[in-house]
Formats: sequence, C-alpha cells, structure tokens
Amino acid sequence: MQILNDNSCSWINDLSPRTNIKTLQSIKNSDWLIVGAGYTGLSAARKLGQMHPNKKIIIVDAQLAGEGASGRNSGYLVDTTLNDGFSSNKKLENYKKKANIYDLGIEAVKKFVEEYQVDCDWNECGKYFASSKLEDHKILTNFSDTLLKLEFEHNLLSSSELSKKLGTSFYNIALYTKGGILLHPGKLVRAMIDALPNNVQLYENSSLLEWNKDKNIISCNFKNGKIKTNKIIFATNGFLKSLGIRANYNFPVTLTASMTRALTDEEFRSMGEPKEWGVLPVRPMGATIRMTKDRRILIRNTAEAHNPFKMSQPDLYKRSINQKIGIKKRFPQLPDDIIQSSWSGIVSRTRNSSQIFECIDDNVFVAGCYNGSGIGVGTLFGEQIAIKASNETTKEIEIIEARNKPTRLPPQPFLNIGVKARLMYERLRAKSDL
Ligand SMILES: Cc1cc2nc3c(=O)[nH]c(=O)nc-3n(C[C@H](O)[C@H](O)[C@H](O)COP(=O)(O)OP(=O)(O)OC[C@H]3O[C@@H](n4cnc5c(N)ncnc54)[C@H](O)[C@@H]3O)c2cc1C
Repeated sequence: MQILNDNSCSWINDLSPRTNIKTLQSIKNSDWLIVGAGYTGLSAARKLGQMHPNKKIIIVDAQLAGEGASGRNSGYLVDTTLNDGFSSNKKLENYKKKANIYDLGIEAVKKFVEEYQVDCDWNECGKYFASSKLEDHKILTNFSDTLLKLEFEHNLLSSSELSKKLGTSFYNIALYTKGGILLHPGKLVRAMIDALPNNVQLYENSSLLEWNKDKNIISCNFKNGKIKTNKIIFATNGFLKSLGIRANYNFPVTLTASMTRALTDEEFRSMGEPKEWGVLPVRPMGATIRMTKDRRILIRNTAEAHNPFKMSQPDLYKRSINQKIGIKKRFPQLPDDIIQSSWSGIVSRTRNSSQIFECIDDNVFVAGCYNGSGIGVGTLFGEQIAIKASNETTKEIEIIEARNKPTRLPPQPFLNIGVKARLMYERLRAKSDL
C-alpha cells in the first residue's frame, strides 16, 4: 500500500510549507511507537511526551503528518449528530452516551487551543441541519424532541429565516444547534505537529509495512528502517483494516470535497453578505456545505466504499463536477470556474457507528472510527489512549468505555455488497440535497 500526498487540498495549501521533515532510514528502539500522525496519533504522542519526559517516543506517518483526513476535513467540531428520534429510553440513553463523548471531545480541543494559543479560525457559531425538502420536517421535529430531552440549545428555522442567514433560498427547513464549532482543520493539526514535546521524534513518508510481536518486543518494518518498541498505538483510522487491526469491526470509506476561491465583493453582496455558517445534511448522504470566514464555500457530497487509498485524478474530477453542480444549485449566480481545489480523504466506519478504543493485545492499543466527529473525538481518544497505555485511568476513560462497543461486520462478499447497497440507497434518498 502506498499513500501519497496530492497537494490538492485548499486547507493544506493555506499553510506554510514545513521544513525539517525526517524519514526513517535506520534501526531505532523506542518505549512507545505511535503509527499515524493525524489528530489521534499527534494527541497521543503529545500526552505521552508530557507524561513520560524521559522515555523515548516515536510517531510515524506514511505521508506528511496531518495531511490525511485530519488536514482535509470539513472543519465541524460537533456537539451533536442527527438521529431520527428515539422510540425507547434505552436508545435515548445511548445517544446521551455518544453526546457525552462529543462534549469531552470539544473540551479536549478547546483546552489544546487555549493552552497553545492556536489560531485555527475557531468560531462558536453553531451549525444547521438543513434540507430543501419540507417532508424532512418530521425528522427534524423528532430530533428536536431528543435535543429538548437532553437539554441542547437549538431551534427550528423556516425558509425565509434561513435564506437571510445562509444567503441561499435553496433550503426550506433547518434545525440549528448552538453548540457546534467551525474551525480550520489544517491549522489545528499543524498546531498539533508544532506542539510535539522534545522527547517525541516524528518520522514522515515512513509507511509501516508489517509488524509482529515476540514476547515483549514489537518489531515494525518500514521500507528503509525498523523500529523495535515496547508499546504501540495504532492511530491510522481509515487504514486500520489494511493493517489488519480490528479488521472484522471497521472498514474504510472515501470522501471527496471541493472548495471555491474566495468570493468577490460583488458575489458576496449578491448573497446578502452572510456571516460564516456550516450546514450538515438531514439525510446522511446529502451535502455538507460551509461558508468560511474568508468567504470560500466548501462542499462535501460523496462517501464511497471503493477507491481505497488514492483517488485518481479523472475520478476526482468527476466528483468535483458534481460538487460544482451542488454549489450552483444553491448559488446559481456564481461562475462555472469557481472551484479552486478538490480532494479525497479516507475515514473509517463501524457497523453500529461506535468508536474503537481498546487494548487489543498486551501493550498494543488502538483508537479510531469517529464517524464525522473525528476532530473532537480523535483528539480526545488520542490523549486518553495514551493514558490507558500508561496503565492509568481517568473519568474520561470511564465515559469512553461505557459506550456501546462496535459490532462485528458480516463476512465478505456480504460486507461489500451491504455497504455499497446502503450507500447507494442513502444517496438516492438524499438526491435533491447533493
Ligand atoms: C472530506 C472529509 C470531511 C470530514 N469532515 C469532518 C468534520 O467536519 N468534522 C469531523 O469531526 N470529522 C470530519 N471528518 C473525519 C475526520 O477528518 C477524521 O475522523 C479524523 O481526521 C481522524 O483522525 P485520525 O488521526 O484518527 O486519522 P487520520 O487523520 O486519517 O490520520 C491517520 C494517519 O495514519 C497514516 N497511516 C495510515 N497507514 C499508515 C501506515 N501503514 N504507516 C504509517 N502511517 C500510516 C495516514 O497517512 C494518516 O495521516 C472528515 C473527513 C473527510 C475526509
């Protein structure tokens, strides 16, 4: 497997190029090895470095650190995700457990941002779950009942209120939740790279090819080097399955997104000069669409089970055409060549949308599978898996471990058929809102 950087994501292109990039070229020993340098791995490395200043900690990434999903997502730090309402107290209780984890995730990112004075365009502006279909009113009123029971501040909005706030008359109904945060995902992950403590060594463009455990030593092979380590944390999210980690419980999904150039004054005026906003779809496969603080529009409207690690340029181009259509449906006044960049990214899913946070063997740990909440939950899980790997516990770990555990996936070929059929069905259901 080869993972390559593709230079096509506007968030990453906004950042200054990094220097002093080291690639693994020799044999090393470590107390801890972390595989994967996104929010999860970088947070784990930071926490381990702080907890064990005299230990040797190595973090590796197959590509440049932070340039996987962590640097190329839509930037919603979520307090809630949409569910269609609950028929039983048990389901409500499960939703509460999930929301408690989101809350801890927001706290973890907020603490990091405050402690390291991170400028990541943090905006506590909330978010909208919006739909062009009036019949989605029922889904949103059910959701509103759930949020009311759990005391989340929110309100339902009609089309006229929405068009003022969003600058488009495309949407007919929405539910606004106050707790969500919008941010620049690239700036956040870059700050996590910069915050790595001195006793953490980072090796990039260094892909773990295979690993084995013999008694208390874990041996890891890379193209041009080896690492022998006492403990290992897998933080490779969308790549967990390809490394054989909890392979019967998670599978990769490829998402694509596009971003426009900054709108001109005239274009922005034509929308009524809205403040920064973020819309999530009411139906799972509809478009996530966001107006950034510097007047760019981001759209993500695909999720696919094929195209595993690197989408070809022609495939990406086809998706960007659909993304242009998605933008023009909402803002017909914009020109055809408004998209500046399009990119793909890999995430990981479980059957019941529950996260992985486990010790899978003595001294072997894994955290991942966040289902659209990886900014907060990835940061939280990274920090907490480091604490767990240090044989300590916290109230956060107790809350994380009280969640529902991921359920086993069906065997192949049923898994592939099931996932593709489900994604296709959801895409059809959300067709008007792509
Ligand atoms: C288009 C898109 C939009 C999204 N929108 C949102 C959003 O708005 N809000 C939200 O919370 N989440 C969102 N997500 C999901 C979020 O980005 C992820 O959940 C999060 O980045 C997971 O972080 P991570 O550190 O666990 O994994 P990643 O960021 O994927 O990091 C894993 C790293 O492991 C490395 N790796 C893999 N295999 C190997 C190997 N063999 N050897 C060494 N390194 C390896 C990869 O190169 C990668 O850098 C989105 C994702 C995408 C793609």
